[in-house]
Amino acid sequence: MSERRNTRQKAIIEHAVSGMGIHRTAEEVYAIVHENDAAIGLATVYRHLNRMYKDGKVQRLSVSGTYYYDVNSDPHDHFHCTVCGKLMDIPAEYDQSLDRKTAEQIGAAMVTHTVMYEGICSNCQKHNEGRT
Ligand SMILES: [Zn+2]
Ligand SMILES: [Zn+2]
Repeated sequence: MSERRNTRQKAIIEHAVSGMGIHRTAEEVYAIVHENDAAIGLATVYRHLNRMYKDGKVQRLSVSGTYYYDVNSDPHDHFHCTVCGKLMDIPAEYDQSLDRKTAEQIGAAMVTHTVMYEGICSNCQKHNEGRT
């Protein structure tokens, strides 16, 4: 694979995963990438996302065994809708004191923590109301 082609692929994939407050799975990234360049395969998407994760360019959140990629690499909390599967950032301030408290409790050197709220998002609630 030529260097130029590799750089172009990388740009398309990085663009597909970018955007504040956007959390996409590898499959969702692939669907967007595919519209721009049908020659880019899912394996290539996985490889680039993995690279970005290792380089600290994206956060990777595991929800029910599925990875969501998040370009916002600052520590923040999330809400997961159990109906549509959407992942959202929580506007509330990230509680750094929890790292300290938990570190004291279990004697670990804490780096970060993730709070995952679960429920039904406002969109899905509206959807439900319309049906009943
Ligand atoms: Zn929802
Ligand atoms: Zn996020």
